[in-house]
Amino acid sequence: MRSIVSRRFSLKSTVLGLGLLAAAPTLWAQEQVLNLYSARHYQTDEALYANFTKATGIKINRVDTDDAGLLARLKSEGSASPADVILLVDAARLWQAENEGLFLPVKSELLEQRIPVNLRAKAGAQGTAWFGFSTRARVIVYNKINVNKADVQNYQDLADPKNKGKVCTRSGSHPYNLSLFGALYEHLGAAQTEQWLKGVVGNMAREPKGGDTDQIKAVASGECGIALTNTYYLARMMRSNKPDDRAVVEKVGVVFPNQQSWGTHVNIAGGAVARHAKNRDNAVKFLEYLSSPEAQVYFANGNNEWPTVPGVKPSNPALEAMGNFKMETIPVSTVGANIGKVQQLLDKAGYK
Ligand code: FE
Repeated sequence: MRSIVSRRFSLKSTVLGLGLLAAAPTLWAQEQVLNLYSARHYQTDEALYANFTKATGIKINRVDTDDAGLLARLKSEGSASPADVILLVDAARLWQAENEGLFLPVKSELLEQRIPVNLRAKAGAQGTAWFGFSTRARVIVYNKINVNKADVQNYQDLADPKNKGKVCTRSGSHPYNLSLFGALYEHLGAAQTEQWLKGVVGNMAREPKGGDTDQIKAVASGECGIALTNTYYLARMMRSNKPDDRAVVEKVGVVFPNQQSWGTHVNIAGGAVARHAKNRDNAVKFLEYLSSPEAQVYFANGNNEWPTVPGVKPSNPALEAMGNFKMETIPVSTVGANIGKVQQLLDKAGYK
């Protein structure tokens, strides 16, 4: 009897033991993860993500694509989307994605404390839909030989007849321009913005084409006298190893417009929690991590931008060379809300 009982016990304990062994790998397999859809692709981001995993144990799975591809993918995946965090560049795109219901608003004391109110979405009852983590300015570049610096001090100068035949831009409907025009709409109102757009079209040296870097090169070559660019494209060329790039930037002057009035237009790269995030807590943790001083420096430097968190200084020689400037203070969320109106005005002005 005794032996049978003991055998039974031993059998039970063996089953129990096997059960525990079988359960253990399952527990390990449920590691903490975060699925990140990013429109940013910079080498320094690798270190950023590695540091987050080191600090939290949360592994990051990345899907890298451009902004348009990322949003299309998110929409087609719908509620089955594995995305937890979305990183996008440009306030216009963030605003649009928010309004298409692609984000899950967040309530985070830390983010609200650290990210300035004008550099995040307008808060609703459910929380804030997105937060800016770096800023870039949209500046005027001019040919130092053909253009007088005094003639390009303000965005308004781009529409002034004194600059006829000199202005070049990328497409008016590119998000960088839409955001700038949305900001101008806020400062100038509908009628004056329409006038301004018509004036810019009338001053063009050529039809809108290419990206910001192409505009800088065309200004250096003299094909254009004046153009608009985001600061990081300039900084990238200033820091380039290629002598050709540095020769280009030496030929162009840079103006931070509207220093005597409302300040230079700034845009953001920002992040949000995806509407159907399966790892919401990890997603919020990641956004909070991006607002930490060490992550801010990395995130901003990855694309030669400025950190959004006050008091965090970038260690970037190209940005330092550009100096300090006065930024406009209107909320970037307002800029997004103006874009529909701006698109109608672009059509009226014949701005391609
Ligand atoms: Fe860009």
